[in-house]
Amino acid sequence: MSISITQQHGLVRGSDDAMAMECPYCGVFAHMRPQSTPSAAQLLKHRPKHVGMVYQCDACRAPVFLRFAVKRYADDAVELYQNFVELERPKERFAYSYLPPQTQVLLREALACYSGNNFNAFASMCRRTALSAFAALGEGGKLRAFEEVMAAQDIAEIDDETFLPIKTILFESGEEDDMPLLNRVQAGVLLEVMKDFLYQCFVRRGKLTRAIKVRHFFTREAENENDQASASPQAV
Ligand SMILES: [Zn+2]
Repeated sequence: MSISITQQHGLVRGSDDAMAMECPYCGVFAHMRPQSTPSAAQLLKHRPKHVGMVYQCDACRAPVFLRFAVKRYADDAVELYQNFVELERPKERFAYSYLPPQTQVLLREALACYSGNNFNAFASMCRRTALSAFAALGEGGKLRAFEEVMAAQDIAEIDDETFLPIKTILFESGEEDDMPLLNRVQAGVLLEVMKDFLYQCFVRRGKLTRAIKVRHFFTREAENENDQASASPQAV
């Protein structure tokens, strides 16, 4: 299991070492093939600590930029660490159009923080997004949101200890300093809870009303056509 750039063969990976990851463009977990690799001669001359490479996604052909740390320099090769940093992370998606305008703006920024691995900025933006959603829901909105969030905890069987910081962030607004610091795992839970609560409070209702409106429209059209057909003798 190694990855190196050699003077003789360019990029060399271990035999059973195919490269696959979630593409930041198409979101598919796809095979990635090297598209652009720096020359070993240049690396050996300047000896940088990190090396950038471009891979191509097999599913959508987009270029994917990765950064590897150098493990060691040999005489004619550069050995790299297996782990890499993705310079563009997959974007979190949401049916934004169903949200009230202000909530929509805040959630977009919250999810951008999450995709950039800025988990505490994400938590702060979740609080602002939640406050704007409570306001948009009107009287009793916060209570309704609280019930949805508690139901989510129950369905997902998340223990109280993990869940406490999430409840604090969403419902104990006041002093910004009081917000707990989140790690990657807690931020992931907050992300899913946040999406679920906004889905239950806005998207579900929006989708359902839209679907029922469309169904009414087609039923009325069909009735009109039937009426016209029975009123016109040529149509018989
Ligand atoms: Zn892709």
